[in-house]
Amino acid sequence: MKNIRDLDLNGKKVIIRVDFNVPIKNGIITDDKRIIESLQTINYALDNNAKVILMSHLGRVESEEDKKKNDLSVVAVRLEELINKKVLFINKTRGKILENAVNNMKEKDIILIQNTRYEDLDGKKESKCDLELSKYWASLGDIFINDAFGTSHRAHASNVGIASILPSAVGFLVEKEINSMLPIINNPKHPFTVILGGSKVSDKIGVIENLIDKADNIIIGGAMAYTFLKAMGINIGNSKVEEDKIDYCKELLNKTDKISLPIDHVVSNIIGEQARIVDIIEPSDIAVDIGPKTIKKYQEIILKSKTVIWNGPMGMFEYDLYKKGTSELCKVFNKDIISIIGGGDTASAIKNMHYEGNFYHISTGGGASLELLEGKTMPGIEVIK
Ligand code: ADP
Ligand code: MG
Repeated sequence: MKNIRDLDLNGKKVIIRVDFNVPIKNGIITDDKRIIESLQTINYALDNNAKVILMSHLGRVESEEDKKKNDLSVVAVRLEELINKKVLFINKTRGKILENAVNNMKEKDIILIQNTRYEDLDGKKESKCDLELSKYWASLGDIFINDAFGTSHRAHASNVGIASILPSAVGFLVEKEINSMLPIINNPKHPFTVILGGSKVSDKIGVIENLIDKADNIIIGGAMAYTFLKAMGINIGNSKVEEDKIDYCKELLNKTDKISLPIDHVVSNIIGEQARIVDIIEPSDIAVDIGPKTIKKYQEIILKSKTVIWNGPMGMFEYDLYKKGTSELCKVFNKDIISIIGGGDTASAIKNMHYEGNFYHISTGGGASLELLEGKTMPGIEVIK
């Protein structure tokens, strides 16, 4: 896989596909982590006398209303502050104003182009990797760098489209994500434990199928545990269940004894208002987190592991009352365990609880990291290979 260091950037127009898909509330960026993470690659290009053309999507654009909501200009302002340099924002995704601005660039200049998904209003050109659009964007630059890990699992014009035309490489963020995760997913040190939680079995089947043979233990929590428990004939009360996945869970439980399920539970009748610890779930109970005995059992399995991959919180961590399962598991991780966190909610749970330091790698790409865990190849990376 070619890296930005492998290309001569001197005096070149370098299109960098970054991930500036930041959360924005009332016109204010509420978390600029993604902008900060792009700085290493942008600064490297500037240090090497490139003319830097930045592209990113922001949210989804399906209407004129969405265009207003997902205007990238706020990111240009924030980027300017962070990088301490003028960023020329072009409020267009094509046309004379953009072309003139690019033609007038000097070395070490930065241009940010408007949200690539503005092109989706006209026949989904960005998201469907339209050839004309890809050629047009490619015509603006000499070199393409993909540093948007979070969209690398999609074949869009602003990554796969341009990369299939221009000499291309990955940036530092993409390189770090791939190098931190792939060797571990493909070649874990044993004992190897996979922790799965979150809301749905159906979201995690791909991960289960890819890792079940390699894993020594599969620990299950979150809402998905209750579909498994129901498959075993255990009463789950009003807990969340996926009826159409019960047969899948039954088959899996018959096939393997690697799977651990909760042995006690935090339950409530009214979400957010109570937390009772039970071994047996009553008909009116909703299970919202794993219980203390389960926590202890899972902690012991984690501590015996050399590698742990974790996707999906153990409970409804958004409520303080129900975050203990997730936070108590976080506590036992340490630098002797090679650990990977995939999934957007799991990563944000860990960050909100301030346990980032306990883990080896927390992926920045929610859906993209899941696809790596599922063993899939990513179009945005393959095109560069
Ligand atoms: P990720 O984004 O890390 O892949 P998911 O999206 O699969 O994780 O799951 C996160 C969601 O799962 C959270 O919103 C959380 O509230 C929910 N969840 C966890 N445990 C339960 C439960 N027992 N009942 C209902 N929802 C749950
Ligand atoms: Mg999620």
